[in-house]
Amino acid sequence: MFFRPLLATLLMTLFSATALALPKESRVPGGIALIPLTGLSGDQAPSAWYKAQRVMVVPSTGTPLASQAKWVAIAGIPLGAKPDRKQHLRANATSYYFEIDDKAYRAQYLTVKNKRHVNPDPEDIKRWSREKKEMTDAFQHWSAPVQPVTRFELPAEGPFSSPFGLKRFFNEQPRKPHSGLDIAAPEGAPIKAPAAGTVLTTGNYFFNGNTVIVDHGHGLTTMYCHMSRIDVKPGDKLATGDLIGAIGKTGRVTGPHLHWSVSLNNTRVDPLLFLDQR
Ligand SMILES: [Zn+2]
Repeated sequence: MFFRPLLATLLMTLFSATALALPKESRVPGGIALIPLTGLSGDQAPSAWYKAQRVMVVPSTGTPLASQAKWVAIAGIPLGAKPDRKQHLRANATSYYFEIDDKAYRAQYLTVKNKRHVNPDPEDIKRWSREKKEMTDAFQHWSAPVQPVTRFELPAEGPFSSPFGLKRFFNEQPRKPHSGLDIAAPEGAPIKAPAAGTVLTTGNYFFNGNTVIVDHGHGLTTMYCHMSRIDVKPGDKLATGDLIGAIGKTGRVTGPHLHWSVSLNNTRVDPLLFLDQR
């Protein structure tokens, strides 16, 4: 048939236009596992779970995993995951097992002037636990937009001042590892939406300062901390590049910067895995 090659070309163009650019895979603590859900060929996205959290599932169409399965689970691996233990992901009634490698994150020593940001008062701890719950609720929020987000633009311009995953010491005392990427920029510089999303929460938090959390759907959220100004409110719909607010130094900081964290299945992962390689 004369039309066949034409139709095939047309379909291929169409598919490549709608194909998702998956995040970069890195099967380490703080990384991402891309699991082809072999054997599940239904038209509806399977519902997948990892460590009791719902996991993003996207069609494999046009991706390098298309030949292996119709659906791909994109699972964030916690920084505290044990590399000596097999990881278990469940999709519908099927189990998938995968291994993770160890990753040695570097240590970072910081000095903060506000001593309460290192050894909080009982009142501060009370406040922080309330805020933590608010943030966890946001990280666990589930929405299912038709077009999943799997890649980001950078939300701010500036050098990366602290990478994700650093083991942290504040005034010589060990604290939780660095759960985001720091971008250094002058106070007042714009912070922009790295992809389409909906504002879930805004607040002024003890450690994180002025904070915004954006929902991108399917368990993917991004958080912006230490802002000098917040220009959005919960429920606002954002397109890529829309203004969220401005760089600041509120909360526990040593200078003005954006702390940007990316969360998948309530797990903070390395934001670099979502950026185009340049
Ligand atoms: Zn940070």
